[in-house]
Amino acid sequence: MPKDAPTPHNHDPNDGDDAASPKSRNFIQQIIDADLESGKYTAEQIHTRFPPEPNGYLHIGHAKSICLNSGLAAEYGGRFNLRFDDTNPAKEEQEYVDAIQDDVHWLGADWEDRLFYASDYFPRLYEWATALIKAGKAYVCDLDAEQMREHRGTLTEPGKDSPYRERTVEENLELFAKMKAGDFADGTKTLRAKIDMASPNVNLRDPVMYRIKHTHHQRTGDQWCIYPSYDWAHGQEDAIEGITHSICTLEFENHRPLYDWFCDQLAELNLLPARPRQIEFARLNLTYTVMSKRKLLQLVTEHHVAGWDDPRMPTIRGLRRRGYTSEAIRNFCERIGVARQNSTIDMLWLEDAVREHLNEIAPRRMAVLRPLRVVLTPEGEPADSAGTSTSEVLKECQLDNHPQQPELGKRTVSLGREIYVEQGDFMEDAPKKFFRLKPGGSVRLRGAGIATCNEVVKDSAGEVTELHCSFNPDTTALVDGKKVKGTIHWVNAQAAVECQVRLYDHLFAVENPDKPPTEDGTFLDNINPASLETVTAKVEPSIADAAAGERFQFERLGYFYADPVDSQPGAPAFNRTVTLRDTWGKAKAK
Ligand code: ATP
Ligand code: MG
Repeated sequence: MPKDAPTPHNHDPNDGDDAASPKSRNFIQQIIDADLESGKYTAEQIHTRFPPEPNGYLHIGHAKSICLNSGLAAEYGGRFNLRFDDTNPAKEEQEYVDAIQDDVHWLGADWEDRLFYASDYFPRLYEWATALIKAGKAYVCDLDAEQMREHRGTLTEPGKDSPYRERTVEENLELFAKMKAGDFADGTKTLRAKIDMASPNVNLRDPVMYRIKHTHHQRTGDQWCIYPSYDWAHGQEDAIEGITHSICTLEFENHRPLYDWFCDQLAELNLLPARPRQIEFARLNLTYTVMSKRKLLQLVTEHHVAGWDDPRMPTIRGLRRRGYTSEAIRNFCERIGVARQNSTIDMLWLEDAVREHLNEIAPRRMAVLRPLRVVLTPEGEPADSAGTSTSEVLKECQLDNHPQQPELGKRTVSLGREIYVEQGDFMEDAPKKFFRLKPGGSVRLRGAGIATCNEVVKDSAGEVTELHCSFNPDTTALVDGKKVKGTIHWVNAQAAVECQVRLYDHLFAVENPDKPPTEDGTFLDNINPASLETVTAKVEPSIADAAAGERFQFERLGYFYADPVDSQPGAPAFNRTVTLRDTWGKAKAK
């Protein structure tokens, strides 16, 4: 990550721009604003699209593109299309087509009735290619891939003309028709645009428009054995759909002259129904994750993760299963903005966005992830009465369901003689500033009272198994004339329900996992072996009835999501969506 890359804690992406200033409009909005001002388009003509290739599940980078494209259409009152770029049948599957639609909808983008497929345009693209042949702008070439590479030249040297470049229009038409009819084997012929083998832009050195691939296509079956290239298909699809602003990622910047060249040729032939404009923006990169579909697929097929929806994956599926909300993802995309320069965004931005939303909507509960038993004896009672009547309730505590939203009400949580607290909330040899449980130390039990640790019980191995504490039900009671500083969460041992909780860390151990740790290594060597920890937690009884998909803040532990697949009625399994920013967040005295 570049040194000056922003993090949510040190940088506001819109720093210094007040909402009304033109600077607060991103460069794409500025382009569109100018198009409206010049009269090129009316606002309702503004038309964008999201063009995924159905060869994998969507990831958070795609979400950025979806939010950007659908957001612009919504902002101007224009339209947004979903178009499957299904021009490469070898890697594409219906499973992906279905999942992509579901994820785009989940994100809140609406294509209304404008769901399209590049394959719908195969006949028209074929016709237009024929028109280019007739105009002397395209030819059938017999060079194989290897020879074509040799002819292509380099960034510093011009390419060489193909020996097939000067075929006659008639010959080209005949060969192209035969390519379509299936007369030739894969890779033996291509259709190429006739532009300029000496162009400084290698994309203009007679780029391939069609390849022969005798492959079954999930929509067109065996109807076609020639498939258009991205460069030939994309701009024409945009034009057919009336896309005004075709937004893509920066690696296509050098393809723009070709995008325009195809549009120009068809316009000259009066074939182009509309004139789209390609605009490039920087793709989203995030720390501690990979975003290449090939790598994500590898993680799945080689079982480094449980699937596309593994909560550690940067896929929309994974984020959904982790407990992310679409609002959080949209806010994140809005906040990081659009740029013309590649950078890597700190994962903290994404985590902060979900934290912020869940803080608003998630009711509070108490759960203990690593339980340590504590036996409470009301102050004034002899200590040896500890443990004699474990089911006795010492106090019915009224706890807020949400501290900032009183309308969410309160719930009653009973405190018994035995409770669980986090193992980490006790320290035998504690430093002075440790304001939780320690021998002789006092702590506030959230909403219940003050516990003072009198005895530490250990097993034969010397492990702490239990604490004995005296208990004062007055949460504001002073100890030795001083206010008790620390507050911890707890659950009542008698009533506690056990449930499975999955705790996640980054899937990769390093900020930039794309870079292998050694020369002969791969990105897989960067996998974090400790990215998943499963614990059996003790939770307050109200959580046991949580429905799959419910979200909670477990006090001091973070935000948790009842897993939609693994939760059973009466036995939810929770995924930690994100920790609280300040783990030892100062729970106020109650
Ligand atoms: P590939 O082309 O290698 O299969 P891709 O990630 O480009 O991978 P597409 O399905 O072509 O996959 O992407 C659909 C759209 O999403 C494209 O317009 C692309 O520019 C955009 N997109 C993909 N990755 C990102 C990213 N990391 N950030 C922003 N936009 C992205
Ligand atoms: Mg792509």
